[in-house]
Amino acid sequence: MLRVLDMPYNELRKDYLLNRWVVIATERSRRPTDFAKPKAEITQTAACPMCVGNEHLTPPAVMLYLKENDGINVAQDPLTGERPKNWLIRVIPNLYPAYSPPKQPEDSEQIFKTEFLADAIGGHEVIVESPNHDEDPADAELPQLELVIHAYIDRLKALSAKPYVKYVSIFRNFGKEAGTSLSHAHSQVIATPIVPTTVQEELDASKSYYREYRKCVFCDIVKQEAKGPRLIYENAEFVVFAPYASINPMEFWIVPKKHSATMIDLTGAEVEALAETLKLSFKALKDLVNDPPYNYGFHLALNQEAKDYYHWHLEVYPKLSIWAGFELNTGTYINTVTPETAAESLRNAVKL
Ligand SMILES: [Zn+2]
Ligand SMILES: [Zn+2]
Ligand SMILES: [Zn+2]
Repeated sequence: MLRVLDMPYNELRKDYLLNRWVVIATERSRRPTDFAKPKAEITQTAACPMCVGNEHLTPPAVMLYLKENDGINVAQDPLTGERPKNWLIRVIPNLYPAYSPPKQPEDSEQIFKTEFLADAIGGHEVIVESPNHDEDPADAELPQLELVIHAYIDRLKALSAKPYVKYVSIFRNFGKEAGTSLSHAHSQVIATPIVPTTVQEELDASKSYYREYRKCVFCDIVKQEAKGPRLIYENAEFVVFAPYASINPMEFWIVPKKHSATMIDLTGAEVEALAETLKLSFKALKDLVNDPPYNYGFHLALNQEAKDYYHWHLEVYPKLSIWAGFELNTGTYINTVTPETAAESLRNAVKL
């Protein structure tokens, strides 16, 4: 009995914005390096369809950055004949799209058949991030990583301009356990006719905050986290921190200091700073936990109305624990690494 009374409680924390709770299990707490394990290799039997020379194994690219004598030019694959091989970035339609463009433009008016049923109208693309098979953010050359960010922005612009698109999700799966079957460096873009739930909840909560305090909640979070124990890295443009209610061990967010609802208007200097931030953060994660699988995704707002109260950011979820019955059943989480420990380890692993 005495033992039970002596035991400190775990902390139950709520997300900054979402109605989402996580137990930070300090009693079972693990060190970040405990998660390092041998990498699960992706067995690729056939030729890599994303490598240079194999362009014919994919649908024609909807956008290419081509390296030409006068610099880098934006182009598309021809529908017939030879496809260029001098590309630096290649954006191709997904072969098995989750969301597809409407067959007739007017279909976009009728996506909702009933309150509960709509056609999955939108788009689904794959961004091949480099001609080099293994050029993932942790090891990428900075100019190449800048091109990846430019490609994100270009596709965001192109897809968000379509009348049937309400949201554009840009995300990256790395490693077999994080759900990818191809090991070539790539990201994905999915455009949807609805605003996804998590983003809508963030929009609603940040709007309420703005109504009450006349300021952006993310700007406040950035100021707070930049001077606290969860800071990992910051430069002139970005702050990297482990969020207070991280639901994944070693989770971190990259948030711009400049207030903006989307990254469509990033300047050249900001793109450079983001590339550097990505590289340093992912290299630190790779060094610390033996190149673990992860997923990352941007959160942003496309509607003009949100420009004062919403603030885009990138959320990174290392895949180091398995969500089981409790998590899947309740949407409530248990994290065995405190965000403060995660931040300290990552902060020490960042090599400038
Ligand atoms: Zn490849
Ligand atoms: Zn803001
Ligand atoms: Zn978010």
